[in-house]
Amino acid sequence: MSEQVTILDGVAVARNMRSELQTRVEELAKQGITPCLATILVGDDPASATYVRMKGNACERLGIRSKRVTLPSATTTEELLRVIGELNDDPLVHGILLQHPVPEHIDEREAFERIKLGKDVDGVTTLGFGRTAFDLPSYAPCTPQAILSILDAYEVPLEGKHAVVIGRSPILGKPVSLMLLNRNATVTICHSKTQHLASIVKTADIVVAAVGKPRFVQGSWIKQGAVVLDAGYNPGNVGDVDYEACLPHVSAITPVPGGIGPVTIATLLRNTVHAAESELNR
Ligand code: NAP
Repeated sequence: MSEQVTILDGVAVARNMRSELQTRVEELAKQGITPCLATILVGDDPASATYVRMKGNACERLGIRSKRVTLPSATTTEELLRVIGELNDDPLVHGILLQHPVPEHIDEREAFERIKLGKDVDGVTTLGFGRTAFDLPSYAPCTPQAILSILDAYEVPLEGKHAVVIGRSPILGKPVSLMLLNRNATVTICHSKTQHLASIVKTADIVVAAVGKPRFVQGSWIKQGAVVLDAGYNPGNVGDVDYEACLPHVSAITPVPGGIGPVTIATLLRNTVHAAESELNR
């Protein structure tokens, strides 16, 4: 067992973020501005509907307006692009979130790209991704931002550390790798074709699991004293890390639930408030 294990408490980090945001929302109210996040849900996937509802409710609890657009499964790419265009042009909407995945017949990438950069609070456009990669101001996707926020809240040093990211998806593995690189970590990105995964993870000071496979990361893979961030969220509230097996080896670890998830939602709220403040400055 590591001498002392820090449980990286995402609920507490998210609570602090929301209380800071509360003040900013009140300041905006004095200017007559209510931040507004538009969510677009296409089709009737129950999990997506739940995510959208959770995000909308989180907005409303903080005084952020939630404009919920629900479209039928048969919506065409053109119709979706038109809806996004209207939200881009609506001065009362500050952020746009297109819940994914969208039905297969829709060109998801084209739909993402239609979102105006200043309203891309979910960090899905290639331009936003490029700016994140270049360490320029942008809204990075919320989960990678949440991972960095947790590391910063607990003052985990990144410079010179070896970070191993398992997963390379455009919304998670890839951007978080670049963000860690921008913070001077030495980053190794692993994926489904990686050979000798366990021995690579064994060299990591920081492990980010973004695989989508329940309890994938084994305790025996973890170097003594490593920091483990589990972005996984699988059915039954199970992460991508075998938490109990990793506990004896880590110096710090995020639980599931109560780790990265709550901070991801708080990050979406923060990006929306920031977008509303930018509107004020325009
Ligand atoms: P994804 O798009 O399915 O990507 C999974 C990644 O894992 C891919 O890059 C894949 O490699 C890699 N992978 C799959 N099997 C592997 C293996 N055996 N060895 C090494 N790498 C492997 O998933 P995602 O959207 O990034 O999500 C990852 C996890 O995070 C999921 O559990 C998801 O539920 C969770 N998530 C959580 C939040 C949150 O708010 N907490 C937000 C988003 C996602 P290839 O590229 O080679 O296929």
